[in-house]
Amino acid sequence: MNKPLQRFIGRYIELEREVQKLVTGLCNSLCSQCTQICCRADICEEAIESPFLRLINKRTELDSDAYGFLTPTGCGIEIGRPTVCYEYFCADHIYYQPDEIHAKIMRVLGALPAHATRNAIGDAPLSEILQEEKLDQADFQTLEKQLDESFQALEIIKAFYHEGTLPDGADRILDRITFSEED
Ligand code: SF4
Ligand code: SF4
Repeated sequence: MNKPLQRFIGRYIELEREVQKLVTGLCNSLCSQCTQICCRADICEEAIESPFLRLINKRTELDSDAYGFLTPTGCGIEIGRPTVCYEYFCADHIYYQPDEIHAKIMRVLGALPAHATRNAIGDAPLSEILQEEKLDQADFQTLEKQLDESFQALEIIKAFYHEGTLPDGADRILDRITFSEED
């Protein structure tokens, strides 16, 4: 692993931990009562198919063929989950947000890990590069810039949840965050 990859992984873990904490806080009450849980073993598989994610989560196989990494208390991967696991919110989550701005902020928050890992080689995200030796060839200048953008948006989002309002210039920073195309 070269130095730029090592540095990127260290900072990405920091971002994922913060995003995870906030997303869990927002989603836990609905998800813990859900009878149609959206986690699927084929999504969990991305966590072991992706060399980038494997370097973070250290997993090599699913915990269960049927449930992947899902446990009775939630996801069994502490860190290094597929980025879609943060980016996806079901319609209920959007519906129960108090207003449009809260819904937007939640969607941007969930998109931060995916945004940080885009355009690693061409337009391929880092998590979709399937040969480990190719990770070193990623465009770390672009990746670090996107990671900086995600951290800047995260600070705005944390301030919003703390103060209840967005600071001046917030939209310019939040609007830089890109969303994955839906399947
Ligand atoms: S995101 Fe929605 S569908 Fe998925 S587990 Fe939570 S409440 Fe259920
Ligand atoms: S959150 Fe965890 S259990 Fe759910 S799909 Fe993602 S990796 Fe699997």
